[in-house]
Amino acid sequence: MFSFEAARQRVLERVEPLAERERLAVKGALGRILADDVRAPFDIPPLPNSARDGYALRGADLVSTGSVHLRMVAEVPAGQYCDTEIKTGEAARIFTGAPLPPGADTVVMQEHVQRHDDVVEVPAGAVKTYDNVRPRGEDVESGAVVLERGTFIRPQEMGILASLGLPSVWVNTRPRVAVISTGNEVVESGEARGPAQIFDSNRYSLIGLLETLGVEALDFGIIRDEREALRQAFLSASEQTHAILTSGGVSVGAYDLVRDILDEIGVIDFWRVKMRPGGPQAYGRIGPAYFFGLPGNPVSAMVVFLEIVRPALWRLMGRQDWQPTCFHARLQESIRKRPGLMEFQRGILSYTDRGWEVTTTGPQGSGILRSMVKGNCLIFLAEERGDYESGEEVWVEPFPLS
Ligand code: AMP
Ligand code: MG
Repeated sequence: MFSFEAARQRVLERVEPLAERERLAVKGALGRILADDVRAPFDIPPLPNSARDGYALRGADLVSTGSVHLRMVAEVPAGQYCDTEIKTGEAARIFTGAPLPPGADTVVMQEHVQRHDDVVEVPAGAVKTYDNVRPRGEDVESGAVVLERGTFIRPQEMGILASLGLPSVWVNTRPRVAVISTGNEVVESGEARGPAQIFDSNRYSLIGLLETLGVEALDFGIIRDEREALRQAFLSASEQTHAILTSGGVSVGAYDLVRDILDEIGVIDFWRVKMRPGGPQAYGRIGPAYFFGLPGNPVSAMVVFLEIVRPALWRLMGRQDWQPTCFHARLQESIRKRPGLMEFQRGILSYTDRGWEVTTTGPQGSGILRSMVKGNCLIFLAEERGDYESGEEVWVEPFPLS
């Protein structure tokens, strides 16, 4: 039996980032992973420029009592370069974003001066030398690595790539991941269902989870608990995808064949993890494809995906520095727990005038998918801990898209 942390570590160690890459327009690169470091080809801003609408002047002309009168010798709108040198006793009308003319090192806001025809009166204390000037290279210095390979591209990364003059970038290829449900009792949603059968929910939840990661999910349907059918499905998936996700059939029942088949046609790494929900899990490879055998219970499958498979897929996708977003919240009820298993209870997290607070969603059976539906987070309860008291601080992790 592995602790949860050890199991996650073992899975992560077995995954190597995919080497395939593609060139994409920055406009279409949201959620993708940069394949190369990106360096700045020039300074941003390229010239010192004004952060305000006002007057550009020499800081040395400012006075500490009374006011100074400066003669306006130029006007610089944004987008124009003015080569008139500002000399002692002179100023230039300037607008936000416009480069400072030579000689000027300070901008005074127009609200803080008096204008008399072509003379500006700047009272003492209106501005200090260098105020309201954005220095050259303030945002990005030429030659610097602005974004590292492995960076997850968010809207701000799209913006900065464009500001560097790059309309397209190299990104890692999206992995293709097969999703397979197993079980004689499992039937496709909406089709004829016998009295002892259930509609497949795992494939739907897992495809949704994959899509939140930007992975391409391939639906391989429901496979019965029969050796030949499972073998064919796994082999076919391994030829078409980078990774295979199955649910069900990894336990110790007579119909739990997933482990056997994996062992027969690939490499298996099966273990029980000291976590609830989601004890038995199977990992391995079939040819070059990674294999993630998740438990069949709908909550277990989702929790194991979020806590173990998701970090492994980020690694496969080449993302650096991925950390789940976790924070502390105050528990609003007591929770009974025996030491020995790490528990991931479903919680409802809310922000109140007392800070973040969390309650459980009620019954926590691993077949109760409504606990995921009612909840918006997982509550982490440590392996070695027993009961939790109301009022304790616990770690919580919001669900994706919450
Ligand atoms: P298993 O690990 O195959 O014994 O499955 C454990 C439990 O999860 C059983 O109650 C199954 O009926 C249920 N289950 C397995 N696969 C699915 C699925 N795709 N959708 C919903 N429930 C499932
Ligand atoms: Mg089964």
